[in-house]
This record gives sequence, structure tokens and C-alpha cells, in this order.
Amino acid sequence: MPLIFVFLDGVGLAQADPTNPLAITPTPHLRALLGGPLTLEHVQARATLLLRPIDAALGVPGSPQSGTGHVALLAGVNAPALHGRHQPYFPPVALRPLLVERSLFRRALAAGQSVAFANVFPPIFFEAVAQRRIRPSASVLAAQGANVPLRGLAELRAGLALSWDITGEALYARGATPALPPITPMQAGTRLAALARSHTLVFFECFLTDLAGHGRLGPDGPADAITRVDGLIGGLLAHMTAADTLLLTSDHGNLEDSTTTVHTEAPVPLLVVGPAAPAFAAIERLDQIADAVLAAIGFQADTVQ
Ligand SMILES: [Zn+2]
Repeated sequence: MPLIFVFLDGVGLAQADPTNPLAITPTPHLRALLGGPLTLEHVQARATLLLRPIDAALGVPGSPQSGTGHVALLAGVNAPALHGRHQPYFPPVALRPLLVERSLFRRALAAGQSVAFANVFPPIFFEAVAQRRIRPSASVLAAQGANVPLRGLAELRAGLALSWDITGEALYARGATPALPPITPMQAGTRLAALARSHTLVFFECFLTDLAGHGRLGPDGPADAITRVDGLIGGLLAHMTAADTLLLTSDHGNLEDSTTTVHTEAPVPLLVVGPAAPAFAAIERLDQIADAVLAAIGFQADTVQ
């Protein structure tokens, strides 16, 4: 059955207090879904709806970071423990072969499933990688290792891709997507839901949330990021079929605590909406998600090693 995996960088699940932007920003779609904001007070487990806090630290001291957290999520391994510490930004070089070998993308394809990596990668991305101004993220390494195509401007134009900031405003402002003006968060959610008609695993990652938590998007950044995420979820929920499952999670806390601009040690939300929700009810840690996703989309992960 189709599963839409929305990865939000840097979102913890914390209590609803005035220092938690998730509690004070109007989020009509999340509130309608959960009976309140995306906070610890609304943890629940029902037949088609699950919200639970899960551990992102994985037994390794210090605050969780993206480099190792992304590998844990995408490959289902305890990357911080294997690496000996939490590593920010990009996956440790020594763990890249393991990431490629065990990635969700590769194992899903090996089991006969179809995978869509929904993010758009315009030419400026590849230029920046070639010039070593940026390095590829875990998701890009996993996709390339599995031969999952990276979507470009043609797919964006056709409504078959979306930008890491949900609306495409960042790329448009930089001139990277000429003649492709931003879309609304609801439209972005609609696009993602549509990809589940032709793929059993749809993956989308958003870094806006972590950037906002780091204070890089100004004082309105957190509310803007949360509003976009809420609209994305609204568009998804309005266009998913009864067979589709939405899974939303993160790699570490950050955005949920406005008293700091660094990562927190808060648990992260595991939000699952749809028929596969019960399959995630016992998940306690970041590195348990990948195998559960593979099981949910139609096979036992142990059979494809
Ligand atoms: Zn960060």
C-alpha cells in the first residue's frame, strides 16, 4: 500500500507552552487532525492515526545531528553509535556504503516497489556539488545508489516535483526556477498525494523547519515554516485515498524550542495517518522507522537483505 514519507528536519515533539512555536502558530489542518497542535499533549494511537514521541539520540551522548540522523532514518541503522558521535550536516564518509546498501529506496526497489523522491534538484544544485560548495545529503546519496531519479525542472514544471521549502519560493527568488512561480503549501501537498497514485513509496524532505529553528529565516521564520508544513499536510489529507498512509517524522529537535537556536534533545514526532498507522505503534527510535516503512508498503524487510 502506498506510503508518503514526509521528512522534516529539526522538529521536536514538546509540550505546548509559549516557547513552542508549534503550539502558538495557527495550524488548522494539524489541529483538526490531532484535536490540537503538534505537541506532546496530543500523543495518541488509533486505527488510522498515530502520534508518538520517538527517541532521536539513539543512546549516544550529545544533541542529535542531521548527518548521522538521516542515515539512521533512511537506512535503519544506529548511525550515531556506529560513528561514535552525532555528526551534523552530511553523512560520515565511512557510513556511506552502508547507507547506500541498506537505504529505504534500494530495499523498496529490490522488493518490487516503486519509489519517487519528490524533491526537485535544479541545475544550480549540481553546479554547487561539482564546485564542492555543497555536499550531497544522505537522501541524495541513497537515491543515486538506488538509481532513483532525481527530479529536475521538467518534473517541477509538470507538477511532479516540489522544492525543499514546500512552496518553491527560495529557488524562485534565486532565479533557479525561472517561469515556475511558487505554489501554495496546499498545492504542494496535492502534488505529493498525486505521486502516490504511481509509486508505493513517495519521499519528500523539507529543511525549512531546521533553518527556521536555527534563526536563519528571521523572527517570522518559525511561524512561516510551520504554516507551510500545515498547508502541506492539509493538501495531502484532502487528496490521499483510503489506501494511502502519510508518515511524518524528523531527525532531531530544534524548531519546537524558541529559547534556543541550536538542536535540542527532545524526542521527535512520529505522525502516521492512514491504514498503516498501527504498524508504527511500537516504534520507539529513529532507526526503527525504515524497516517499518518497508513492511508497511508490502513486504517483510528481513526477506530482502
Ligand atoms: Zn540543524
